[in-house]
Amino acid sequence: MKTFAYERADSVADAAEMAAATPGAKFIAGGTNLIDLMKLQIERPPLLIDVNDLPLDTIESASDGGLTIGALVRNTVLAAHPVVRAEYPVLSRALLSGASGQLRNAATTAGNLLQRTRCPYFYDTNMPCNKRAPGSGCAAIGGVSRHTAILGTSDACIATFPSDMAVAMRVLDAEIETVNALGATRSIPIADFHRLPGDTPEVENVLEPGELIVSVKLPPPVGGKQKYRKVRDRSSFAFALVSVASVVRSDGTGHVAVGGVAHKPWRDEEADAQVVNGAEAVTERLLVGAKTTEHNAFKKSLLERTLASELGGEGN
Ligand code: SF4
Repeated sequence: MKTFAYERADSVADAAEMAAATPGAKFIAGGTNLIDLMKLQIERPPLLIDVNDLPLDTIESASDGGLTIGALVRNTVLAAHPVVRAEYPVLSRALLSGASGQLRNAATTAGNLLQRTRCPYFYDTNMPCNKRAPGSGCAAIGGVSRHTAILGTSDACIATFPSDMAVAMRVLDAEIETVNALGATRSIPIADFHRLPGDTPEVENVLEPGELIVSVKLPPPVGGKQKYRKVRDRSSFAFALVSVASVVRSDGTGHVAVGGVAHKPWRDEEADAQVVNGAEAVTERLLVGAKTTEHNAFKKSLLERTLASELGGEGN
């Protein structure tokens, strides 16, 4: 492993200032993805800034009736929180479908949003990968691509974003709250937080260097019947081939976000408008522009069947 410095931040401002002062520095909390990447020398930060001492581990009611989730709230704690279970069950279910109990005990809300793709070629440093080594090519295009994306892909990268939690947050219209080294704050709708790969797949979100996630804000409870369905190759400790987060109201209208199919949680407001018409209509709209490979074409029908199990057929 390459030598790196390690510092513990004692305030949010301290953390953001340290990160801004050292190009390539990384924040670390649970470290469930970052440490693996450092062992493989895929991530080689000159400085690790430990943020575990920051007061960002609470879940609090917001003045508008929503919920503010601190960046350091562990996935296990968030999934078990009584308000999350009662008012945002899609989020609780998505969290519990991810990783393993041990990993959920360590992984944080912010870290979950910032985890990197599990494309096997990204982790195999003998293979070309534009995300790991920009300009080197993409081994998944023309290679084994069962796990890859079918929506929003580019000629440079067809990787998926692996988070379950983020798919539920997308259907709930969460906002990601940050602070930078100058103390400036901003609130980023989760729809705008993760990027599609385009020509720069190594840039995965809109955070600026040194910008620190401090919390995730959920809007007031949206009600409805909320579900999260994840389809994977084995029943635990596996990433989604396809996942669906849904909120359906008693009148049959609702929202869906899907995972395992793109470089970000995928949602299309025009597909939402079709929820009342059932899974086939939603799928047809979601798959506009889909581009498949020989190995991942099955995801189109898998998505429709998964949506059918969530929403039912015509006029659910
Ligand atoms: Fe790398 Fe993306 Fe291609 Fe996977 S799909 S090999 S992450 S460039």
